[in-house]
Amino acid sequence: MGESRLSAMLTFLRRRPWLVVVAAGLAVLSIVTMTALRQRTETFTETEFMNALADGVVEDVNISPNTRTVWGTGHDDEGAFTYRYRYLEAAEETLLSQLRIHAPDFRVQPPQSSAADIAATLVPLALLAFVAWFVVTRVRSGGVAVSARATKPADVPDYGFERLGGLDEAIVEVSEVVDFLSDPERFERLGAKPPRGVLLEGPPGTGKTALARAAAAEAEVPFFAVSASEFVEMFVGVGAKRVRDLFERAAKAGPAVIFIDEIDAVGRRRGAAAANGNEERENTLNQLLTEIDGFHSNRAPIVVMAATNRSDVLDAALLRRFTRHIHIGLPDRAGRERILNIHLEAVAAADDIDVSSLAARTVGFSGSDLERLVNEAAVFAARTSDSHVTNVHLEAAFDRIVLGLERRSAVPTDKDRLIVAYHEAGHTVCAFVQPDADRPHKVSVVPRGQAGGVTHFTPSEGSFMTRRRALASLRAMMGGRAAEEILLGDDITSGAAHDFASAGQLAREMVTNYGMGSLGPMFIPDPSQPVAPETARAIEEDVARLLSEALEDARRIVNEHRDALERLVAALLEEETLDEERIAEVLGAAA
Ligand code: ADP
Ligand code: MG
Ligand code: ZN
Repeated sequence: MGESRLSAMLTFLRRRPWLVVVAAGLAVLSIVTMTALRQRTETFTETEFMNALADGVVEDVNISPNTRTVWGTGHDDEGAFTYRYRYLEAAEETLLSQLRIHAPDFRVQPPQSSAADIAATLVPLALLAFVAWFVVTRVRSGGVAVSARATKPADVPDYGFERLGGLDEAIVEVSEVVDFLSDPERFERLGAKPPRGVLLEGPPGTGKTALARAAAAEAEVPFFAVSASEFVEMFVGVGAKRVRDLFERAAKAGPAVIFIDEIDAVGRRRGAAAANGNEERENTLNQLLTEIDGFHSNRAPIVVMAATNRSDVLDAALLRRFTRHIHIGLPDRAGRERILNIHLEAVAAADDIDVSSLAARTVGFSGSDLERLVNEAAVFAARTSDSHVTNVHLEAAFDRIVLGLERRSAVPTDKDRLIVAYHEAGHTVCAFVQPDADRPHKVSVVPRGQAGGVTHFTPSEGSFMTRRRALASLRAMMGGRAAEEILLGDDITSGAAHDFASAGQLAREMVTNYGMGSLGPMFIPDPSQPVAPETARAIEEDVARLLSEALEDARRIVNEHRDALERLVAALLEEETLDEERIAEVLGAAA
């Protein structure tokens, strides 16, 4: 290599510091892999593995259900080791439940053979060689252009809202985005503020991605989708660059939808995550904020839609960029029936399929679970060489999915559903029959996050928190527990914990801020503010009194309106979600 070539190469590298970083990273990676390979290897028996797991000796767990192998690394008194454990099919369930307890972030992987071990060493070396080759060839050819990341052009997706079931409310909200993208000039002419950022929040598989795609399809604009986890790279600057590239491509495409999946991967509140890699993540996040602001100011007709199931961890600055927050929950019975029908249309289904009863039994299923159900049924049909998907196939697929390991905890038992129905009906009845309480506008027993169900209230007219309204709210909050007692006697559940927390907070405000307790006027804005011990004691007692009186009243109300309560429970078990109108219909004369 002559001197001029050497200096050309140095210049080349100076312009592309990332290449050096990549090379150094790869070198480190190879060393780490090789060290790992030289480690002690343990082959565990079932007992040994379970003990190691429970003792915390195991550090990381990978599982390959295909080959029924578990492997990873660990650390015990004698130092680091790698382990491998082959399990019997019958042990899989126990294994998974133990993993969920002791190593909940286990990874499901394709099987790792010793060939893969070798590849793990060779691949970084091969990449290293590739980088060297890349540098040398580019320099030799005198070329300076680094090939742009090959990206396939974004397409207009092929189907719209008609292929989504049970998302009517979300679709109404998203229609605004469609209107804007279809005719951006109209918004501009009218001086209307277009929706620029839409955050879709909800559990996995509920159709967030599908909804964003459908919005692009309805507006007939291209759809640029990325997962934010792709932005999180170990190389400095790569994440930020990808964000820049993405927005650039979208801007060139004219009206477009940018969809960022798993936005929490970059959008976590600053300082909330582990220190490691924080800075890079923050760079990426800042770039994202800059880009969003950039097209706000130059009015590019682009809408950013993002999805997450953890909006509570998102950075406040990022949240502010998303002017619309749309919650997408698991589908209720009617929604599930629609979704099943949509996916059944795509397969050769028999005419006599009992979709309605299938919908009734698939409580807790997400849209993608239902799609899987139909697909598995189609697979069964194909395997048995049947010409159509029938009830029998759907039944087999249903058993397989429900009994299948992952969703067992998500599918509530009939007893669970009954308890939740009583609990939510209790809130609703207590609120409904008290003229001063906020009106219940929706009650649902569709599981949502930790909660089994939910009752939503519309705040009553008038902005003042009056004493009667506060007391009525306390009783409505206690209604859940009171109704549980009717069903369960003294074997009540922990389901009221959240209600007690909200009620406790309200009661405390009544006592310490609004002068509505028995202690007279006082104002202690912050509950952690130090007060004299006697005062603290008096406050506690007064709060406790308000709460227990509210529970007593709630018991009286649910017993007085027992018939209405039972009617509502029956309706909830059947329909799962009731809106304001339906609540009034069912409770009717109770008020
Ligand atoms: P998410 O992004 O919320 O995790 P996806 O949009 O990726 O969910 O859903 C995966 C697949 O499941 C979709 O492509 C679609 O086929 C199906 N699916 C999910 N929700 C629905 C729904 N509400 N209606 C119809 N199909 C759905
Ligand atoms: Mg998705
Ligand atoms: Zn409750």
